[in-house]
Amino acid sequence: PVQEKQDFIRQIVRKDLSGGKHDTVRTRFPPEPNGYLHIGHAKAICLDFSLANEFGGRCNLRLDDTNPAKEDPEFVAAIQEDVRWLGFDWAELRHASDYFDVLYLAAEKLIAQGDAFVCDLSAEQVREYRGTLTEPGRDSPYRERSVEENLDLFRRMRAGEFADGSRTLRAKIDMTAGNINLRDPALYRIKKVPHQNTGDAWPIYPMYDFAHALGDAIEGITHSLCTLEFEDHRPLYDWCVDRVDLAHSPELLAPLLAKGLPNEASKPRQIEFSRLNINYTVMSKRKLSALVAEGLVDGWDDPRMYTLQGLRRRGYTPASLRLLVDRVGISKQNSVIDFSVLEGALRDDLDASAPRRMAVVEPLKLVLANLPEDHAESLAFANHPKDASQGERQVPFSREIWIERDDFAEVPPPGWRRLVPGGEVRLRGAGIVRCDEVVKDEGGTIQELRGTLDPESRPGMEGANRKIKGTIHWVSAAHGVPAEIRLYDRLFSVADPDDDADGKSYRDHLNPDSIRSVRGYVEPAAAQAAPEQSLQFERLGYFVADRHDHRNDAPVFNRSVTLRDTWAT
Ligand code: ATP
Ligand code: MG
Ligand code: MG
Repeated sequence: PVQEKQDFIRQIVRKDLSGGKHDTVRTRFPPEPNGYLHIGHAKAICLDFSLANEFGGRCNLRLDDTNPAKEDPEFVAAIQEDVRWLGFDWAELRHASDYFDVLYLAAEKLIAQGDAFVCDLSAEQVREYRGTLTEPGRDSPYRERSVEENLDLFRRMRAGEFADGSRTLRAKIDMTAGNINLRDPALYRIKKVPHQNTGDAWPIYPMYDFAHALGDAIEGITHSLCTLEFEDHRPLYDWCVDRVDLAHSPELLAPLLAKGLPNEASKPRQIEFSRLNINYTVMSKRKLSALVAEGLVDGWDDPRMYTLQGLRRRGYTPASLRLLVDRVGISKQNSVIDFSVLEGALRDDLDASAPRRMAVVEPLKLVLANLPEDHAESLAFANHPKDASQGERQVPFSREIWIERDDFAEVPPPGWRRLVPGGEVRLRGAGIVRCDEVVKDEGGTIQELRGTLDPESRPGMEGANRKIKGTIHWVSAAHGVPAEIRLYDRLFSVADPDDDADGKSYRDHLNPDSIRSVRGYVEPAAAQAAPEQSLQFERLGYFVADRHDHRNDAPVFNRSVTLRDTWAT
């Protein structure tokens, strides 16, 4: 049984169902297709879809495409891919633009009711008339046009007779309202721009608030969940829903019925929750797209990006992002989540699921001089220390092995537990080695180490029980597969890259060390990973085979996250 979550939205839904207000739950996730989804959207996606799933309801994916200049079919496709990748599927795929005919009829209804008028003020004049937080607005001089004149002008707007920006259709609400959103907001604007879904069919487009409220009503949405910045828009949302009253106006839905869509119109309720904010990130499609456009990152799916595509390529799993959202919870409290919570969710997911492998990122050769030149054997290693069901793999072992340059020190610092000249260390799964000789070139640079493997010290043998301080990982030099290993780190070096108090922008806070690419060696079983397979490279961190560049004969791994938080202060 699914454990019952207790946040305030689920409490509302339970009450609405048990009290008979609704007999089913319908939600929607409504992104505007003007960019790629980011990790903030993951919160909304998980909430919208999980809520419907938990209560046996339905969730639509609705592309809120009312702003044709910025929208693109590329984004429409990517949004669908990302939602599915996160593990969700929609009841129906809809576009706000599917409803343009209905919205147009709804606007005519508002005009006929005296609830909307065509206004000839310019954008700048509209701003002047709007007033401020402390000052009421003033009525437009066009506010008292007759219904006939308004209908005629609106139809001519629709027919394409007027220039962009020359007129708007505005709701007639209240220019003295304390809430500025209610001061006769625009419902339609003239914009002769082709639309990604409707092409050249419309020279006018509905405004977001109008289209969004009516889109919810058309789809029979019961609980319309959105982020807190829409709280001030709720009175307008309700005004649109109530004045148009689709639930009792089947004639407005005729264009949809003609397309074979059922009439599900209802009165939806908007409920706001706090956005997901995470430090060390920027979370806005506009800023993320600027990073791409300015070449500061390598595309939308750069593994350092906080887009879902970037996180995916970095090795974030859908389960880790769902876990993050669960841990953060749903409330109306604004907060900033520490980046370590995101990384912690990934570690917890991968600790349980990722097979273990050995890889060496900065190789130093160690020759086990007491083994015969042609020594070759295959050692069985468990794929996962806590999950026997993951089985075993064979790891080749031979006379020459790569170890991590960092695991050797000629002059060890205090507390050192790894290899030193004359000292011993355990080679993971292969026995105890003593370092006998440090071979250097003329310049004094270490070329390789030579040592002796104690043949009686294999795990399980008597001789393995000696007290040895450290265990290091290794890769057989004869069998290791050369690999490109991309050591990613946080994209920003400060907790609040968005803080432009000192006149700087997030661009000025890019972490110069957010990527370092090295050539290392991985054991053969790691090279065999499929693209997008996550692995733990022992002692190094969690890595993923790059979705695009990884090949079995030329492996490429991205570091998803280190084993421990190295940023903690
Ligand atoms: P952006 O500012 O990045 O463009 P947006 O809110 O304009 O984001 P939309 O496409 O309108 O993007 O968002 C779709 C849904 O996702 C909305 O319901 C919105 O409230 C929600 N959403 C966007 N950002 C976040 C976030 N950081 N946390 C939670 N939900 C979010
Ligand atoms: Mg938006
Ligand atoms: Mg936005």
